Amino acid sequence: MSRATPLETEAPAASAVSEIESSSSDDERSEEGSVRPAGAGARTGAGPLRTPLYGPAAPDAKFDAKRSSIRVAAMAVPPAVPLTDHGLLPWAGVLLWPLLLTLPLMLSSPLSVTSYREVFPAGWYEYDPATDDPKPLGLTLGLLAVVIGQVFVLAFFSLYRGRYLTRGVEPTPVQAKGARAYTFGEGIRTHLFQPEGFVLLGLYLSLTWMFGLMPPSYYSFEGSIQWTNLVACLVLQDGIQYAMHMAEHQVSVEIYKISHKPHHRFTNPRLFDAFNGSMADTILMILIPLYSTANIVRTCNVWTYMAFGSMYANWLTLIHSEYALPWDCIFRKFGLGTPGDHHVHHKLFKYNFGHLFMWFDMVGGTYRRPERFAPRVFNKGI
Ligand SMILES: [Zn+2]
Ligand SMILES: [Zn+2]
Repeated sequence: MSRATPLETEAPAASAVSEIESSSSDDERSEEGSVRPAGAGARTGAGPLRTPLYGPAAPDAKFDAKRSSIRVAAMAVPPAVPLTDHGLLPWAGVLLWPLLLTLPLMLSSPLSVTSYREVFPAGWYEYDPATDDPKPLGLTLGLLAVVIGQVFVLAFFSLYRGRYLTRGVEPTPVQAKGARAYTFGEGIRTHLFQPEGFVLLGLYLSLTWMFGLMPPSYYSFEGSIQWTNLVACLVLQDGIQYAMHMAEHQVSVEIYKISHKPHHRFTNPRLFDAFNGSMADTILMILIPLYSTANIVRTCNVWTYMAFGSMYANWLTLIHSEYALPWDCIFRKFGLGTPGDHHVHHKLFKYNFGHLFMWFDMVGGTYRRPERFAPRVFNKGI
């Protein structure tokens, strides 16, 4: 296999170069600009990737070649401070992960005074699939679990972005050009009230629950979080999402334009861009995988479904962070999705199609580690 990089090997790759050129100088401008799917430039845009799959760490040469303007992108930004220079405080952020499961852990505990049996009347949660209509308690708690997870994520991120965990120094931006400037209030408003984001997700969850479209076990309050099922749901969801994501990029330019292109206007995304895209994108890449996953892993109880919903939605939010996160070095060791990995996709379009797990990209040959693949684009230590 040639050691040439994808961008050097064939005409379609030129479109990826032009994406970088058009977007790297000013993300705000590029967000309104034209963005094409990977491989959809000089040719028709359809068809599988024809790029080397298992390439070495790509040389940075293509980025500072005369044809590319990306080499100037980072010049005005001071060097990022490695996370290790901030002491132990950023590691407090790791507590975020168990906190994402606060509600299902508390309510499903058999001993705790917060057990659902102590908190709610039996008629609210007892459910016989043969005779009962779905009851709203499980749905309400599921939505609440995601909301609580989001509260913790946003609280952590506001402290982290506000430099309270890093001794007053800005955390390391994922991209060498630095993080985009915006007000926190605008970010939260955009994040929470995009119709294609939590609004559509909430509608999907409500309708599938109340119309009895979930497997019967999902309505059961018996037991606690089923950890194996939780992992199975996360991996399966991300696997199906990976396939749908690739399809959106590669089936046709038209499908890409109406579905996924709006999300790709962010070539230097921020945390609050996670669910900012289009209705079609959310349906194809989130809702169809969610419904498929539920109908494959058919033995989850309500606590597992709740834990899965909170983990999935909040992890998807976190990988869009404009800053490297404290746990990234651990996640990278296990191939778990980080902001750096996902920024590679937003910036270069044709790599890192997975979100929560990089395993599918590693197997399929589309994984690229950010600071090795493009060290002038991405900061060290992300
Ligand atoms: Zn994204
Ligand atoms: Zn994409």
